Amino acid sequence: MPINDFITTALNISEDDIEDLNVRSDEEDLIITLKLKAKSLDCPYCGGNVTIKDYRKVKILSGDMNHRKTTICLKKRRYTCKVCGKTSMKK
Ligand SMILES: [Zn+2]
Repeated sequence: MPINDFITTALNISEDDIEDLNVRSDEEDLIITLKLKAKSLDCPYCGGNVTIKDYRKVKILSGDMNHRKTTICLKKRRYTCKVCGKTSMKK
């Protein structure tokens, strides 16, 4: 199975949602790190504009692909609201 198909199926996303994809493999494991495209940039608390604060790597799934242990990590964005100053996290 192609890696992209594995990811989109496992995460229930479309290939268009992926902004950046990085695959690292060693003898036994396959580690996929991906970054999704930013969609909504509104603050969930006040609806104000937000700016990207930083990224946090979150391990979201592990499974077997082509009989190899595969781990998917997602770089989640953290946002700071310009209006109320609260931090939120999205995919
Ligand atoms: Zn806000």
